[in-house]
Amino acid sequence: MLAEQTIQSGVNDDPITTAQQHKPAQRLFIPGPTDVLPEVLAAQTAPMIGHRTDEFEALFAKIQGQMKQLYFTDSRVYVVAATGSAMQEAAIRNAVRGRVINFVNGAFSQRWHQVSTGCGKETIKVDVPWCNAVKPEHVAEALETALTTGPVDAVTVVHNETSTGVASPVGEIAAVVRQISPSTLILVDAVSSFGGARLPMDEWGIDVMLTSSQKALAVPPGLAFAAVSDRTLARAKEVTGRGWYLDFLNLEKYLVKDTTPATPAISLMRALGVQLDIIFAEGVERRFARHAALAARTRQWALDHDFNLMAEEGYASPTVTTVENTHGLNIGALNRFLAQAEMEISDGYGDYKGKAFRIAHMGEVNDADLDRLFATIEQYMSN
Ligand SMILES: *Cc1c(COP(=O)(O)O)cnc(C)c1O
Repeated sequence: MLAEQTIQSGVNDDPITTAQQHKPAQRLFIPGPTDVLPEVLAAQTAPMIGHRTDEFEALFAKIQGQMKQLYFTDSRVYVVAATGSAMQEAAIRNAVRGRVINFVNGAFSQRWHQVSTGCGKETIKVDVPWCNAVKPEHVAEALETALTTGPVDAVTVVHNETSTGVASPVGEIAAVVRQISPSTLILVDAVSSFGGARLPMDEWGIDVMLTSSQKALAVPPGLAFAAVSDRTLARAKEVTGRGWYLDFLNLEKYLVKDTTPATPAISLMRALGVQLDIIFAEGVERRFARHAALAARTRQWALDHDFNLMAEEGYASPTVTTVENTHGLNIGALNRFLAQAEMEISDGYGDYKGKAFRIAHMGEVNDADLDRLFATIEQYMSN
């Protein structure tokens, strides 16, 4: 309700009119799931409706329109009851007949490589050192080499490597791929940045951009999204073994009728509908600017307290900051201390456990939340 009133009165510049500004203190500074606003949680308690009804189709159409806006795309956005990993699999199963190049610079891009292999595709894995971004030159070199032995159906790149806090320039990468090999599809995982950063799918020429509900979108886990280009649908027609649940052509058949092939997660979609109103009431550019400012502030806080940053300079994530644990803090003990103030951060990922910690500033986090978090960490460090 609040969000709708804000949109109608058009007073987006008044910070106290947005639901974002009335929110409870942030508890989760982990890279998903993130805290969900009370009115979004509450939307899930409404009584069930059938999904073959006008009411559901209206909800689907509303979500479809707003998600396309958030993706800056005229194509389509499939919504599935699943998580982002399912859409990594969907992208591979629909876009790849023969070979795919997987660029791997962290744990989630590594997962996408495993998914590709698991789907029985011929994969070419290109390793980029963790904490570094995948760059257009890496992509150009790998693609040109691969093309000497045959076509490449697709490349996979993770925009925001949540394991290391590194963002790769997927727009520049897409441009390079289009130039070198126009028939190669560009598949992008934007799970932990979508909704917190501007990722204009059509302008950048990206073919599949996938995400999850529980990260910067700040909706409970359980919904997966993929914006899919016309080129990808044309490709899917030539790919066998697409399965059924994640078959883009099957999803398309129902999407044009504002519905889904299988029973949708109605409660989650209601929550999403409310959250999208809140996102547009805040203003998408303002939302992106808020994320960028929180990220800059977190990096500066780390440097001011004699920590180092793990991400390659110039490629730090807008939604999660990975801090080298230069003071040798016990991250478990720090989190127990933070828990007393109802807050939580993340340990380093995999090999970085204990050697780094991660502060997520995605979703509905604001400056007051960072004030509390930093003050509490400083208090722990001074004890
Ligand atoms: C969290 C995450 C995933 C996995 O998403 P799920 O929704 O948990 O399946 C994939 N990629 C990135 C970059 C992530 O941050």
